[in-house]
Amino acid sequence: MAAFKIKVEGLVQGVGFRPYVYRIAQKYNISGTVKNITDGVEIIAQGENNDIKSFLDGINKGAPGAAQLENITVVETGLQSFSGFAIVQSEDNSHTITGISPDIAVCDDCLKDMATQPHRLSYPLINCTNCGPRFTIIKDLPYDRGNTTMQPFEMCQVCWEEYNNILDRRFHAQPLACNHCGPTYQMVADNKHTNITSEILISAAEMLANGKIIALKGTGGFHLMCNALDDAAVSRLRASKKREGKPFAVLFRNIGAIQQYAAVNSIEEESLTSWRRPIVLLQMKKQLAASVTQGLNTIGAFLPYMPFHYLLFEKTDLPALVLTSGNLADEPIVTDEDKAKLVFKDIADAVIYYNREIYNRTDDSVVRVIAGKERVLRRSRGYVPSPVKTSLKVDGILATGAELVNCFCIGKGQQAILSQHIGDLKNIETFTFYTETIEKFKRLFRFHPELMVHDLHPDYLSSKYVLGQDTEKLAVQHHHAHIASCIAEHGLDEKVIGVSFDGTGLGEDGHIWGSEFLICDLEGFERYLHFRYIPLPGGDKAVEEPWRTAVSYLYQVFGPHIKLLDIPFLNKMEEKKLDRIIEAIDKNINVPLSSGAGRLFDAVAALLDVCTVANYHAEAPMHLEALTVGSVSSRYEIAVGEVISFAEMFQQLIEDIKKRTPVEIMATKFHNTIIYTVLKVVLKIRRETALNKVVLSGGTFQNKYLTERVEALLEKNNFEVFSHHRVPCNDGGIALGQLVIAAKRRK
Ligand code: ZN
Ligand code: ZN
Ligand code: FE
Repeated sequence: MAAFKIKVEGLVQGVGFRPYVYRIAQKYNISGTVKNITDGVEIIAQGENNDIKSFLDGINKGAPGAAQLENITVVETGLQSFSGFAIVQSEDNSHTITGISPDIAVCDDCLKDMATQPHRLSYPLINCTNCGPRFTIIKDLPYDRGNTTMQPFEMCQVCWEEYNNILDRRFHAQPLACNHCGPTYQMVADNKHTNITSEILISAAEMLANGKIIALKGTGGFHLMCNALDDAAVSRLRASKKREGKPFAVLFRNIGAIQQYAAVNSIEEESLTSWRRPIVLLQMKKQLAASVTQGLNTIGAFLPYMPFHYLLFEKTDLPALVLTSGNLADEPIVTDEDKAKLVFKDIADAVIYYNREIYNRTDDSVVRVIAGKERVLRRSRGYVPSPVKTSLKVDGILATGAELVNCFCIGKGQQAILSQHIGDLKNIETFTFYTETIEKFKRLFRFHPELMVHDLHPDYLSSKYVLGQDTEKLAVQHHHAHIASCIAEHGLDEKVIGVSFDGTGLGEDGHIWGSEFLICDLEGFERYLHFRYIPLPGGDKAVEEPWRTAVSYLYQVFGPHIKLLDIPFLNKMEEKKLDRIIEAIDKNINVPLSSGAGRLFDAVAALLDVCTVANYHAEAPMHLEALTVGSVSSRYEIAVGEVISFAEMFQQLIEDIKKRTPVEIMATKFHNTIIYTVLKVVLKIRRETALNKVVLSGGTFQNKYLTERVEALLEKNNFEVFSHHRVPCNDGGIALGQLVIAAKRRK
């Protein structure tokens, strides 16, 4: 007989872990206790040595779906007299607890119950301890039903018994409900109101087949939905959502349906079927309605994650539905049915919703598998609010993030808790969502900001938010924050070579940076090298209109000879337009200097006539990447001196254009040039500093072709390479970097 104290860290609260421990304790005659503690679960296990061993094995191997065990420590402790095994109430440590589970896709057991349990037949909001809404419904801690938006629903007798039966899968499942006592779906179409689920499903299926658009309440907000094979419906949705080019996400009925339209490798399949159910960017095999992807060869696919999705696919044969966020332009997604009825009245032919409030808005998360690993590009439903453990004391720090793709981050102890994807703060409603969510995080996580961190750019609304507060403040440079974010994700705390490529971020010299080779640690950085500055004619206008940047590059390389270049890009351009740009550059009128890698991608995309005017953020680089082919290994020349110059590349590119070289080859050679540039510069840094760890961050690394080859090439050259997996490499990850830099500097 022996007794052990076992501490399990990771995502183990609100995911059915304690009842699971209870059940295996019963199985192996273990006595003792299990309880939630600050950063996990603590178990006292007493029993025969063999049984203890089996018990520990059981904990390690069979933990329920969403539980994530990160660290288990076992220490022997004194024998006590227990009468069996018990789940004990945790002391009120809600001021320190951070383990709130993200929302979990409906589990297979619940899908079975939905077909067999008399009180839950076709119940469209079925859930259990292993699945269902979590973060989106929680208002306060502890995680009890009364503190969630399930509070108004009183459990029926049957549910109550399940809730209290420790051997039941719904023991202490806070959102548990059934057809008799839970929230229900309703539909409004043509001013008619229905609240019978079976009728709703049948008419929804009919409407989808007939090219109609439906607004459907999801886990974290409304979606707009239509048949993904019906080009008229998709085009109408696109026009009314005021979303011109950006691809729509597609919900497929099952993995088989996805495989018909896209190539899916085993890692991608794992992401698609995981309980987080993100949108996964896949290589397209067969076209859906053309207006779904708008010329891109990738498709954002995901699988049903709400019981309602499954029930709907039972009523229709359609393989795929467009399921895009229910919002207009840059506004946050609508969460409330009254607003949905108003906002979507001219878009949607029906509004379908359930009468449980969404308290914390979340978007669908987006991931991409790069170099065999899942990379989170938009972190929201299913991922938030899982913390990132850091090696520093980050307590009391609020990092406010960037502006365009905003997420903020709070520090609790050593844990960094990133907010869900917020969006573009320049939109007034999104900014309200931002400030409201900061307040919600303060309450939920018992968080009091003592130090606020913001981007160096004083005009970012996230910076203005801080500058208006009476608190200690710290400004952090954008690209340093990118690299620090990746350093933190990997638990590093040392000097590294940082490669930070993106579109825009204010530099310390007042110019726009974005192709930064940094020698840095969490405390500070040295800007070692960057691309040669280019004037951006019209400033922000150049970001929307890549042709302006293309002209600027050509003018930088060829000067007045630009007019003699006989290439389609210039031949098509009105001479007046060209003259105006050149004049602006010559006279230095509204031409901020930029070293952004994104701008170089823009320029090349425009020059190749791939994208001269962008309808959405990063459209030009995305289309350029789409043209790359694996079979081309050649590249263009660059020069590395005081700065990195692409003059020679542009000369060679012009020659290629004149030779009518296929655009795929030129796009690939351009990518290869950037990959070569990274290698050449980091080799130079290693020679001079002996540093061998390379950290890659910034939105440019969402590019799969680029990132896979940069990683492989650096590893081949014996570098240790670190890139993002769980935190976005784009500005959605910036706040984590701001947080750890502040923690380091505070000491
Ligand atoms: Zn379940
Ligand atoms: Zn019930
Ligand atoms: Fe950035």
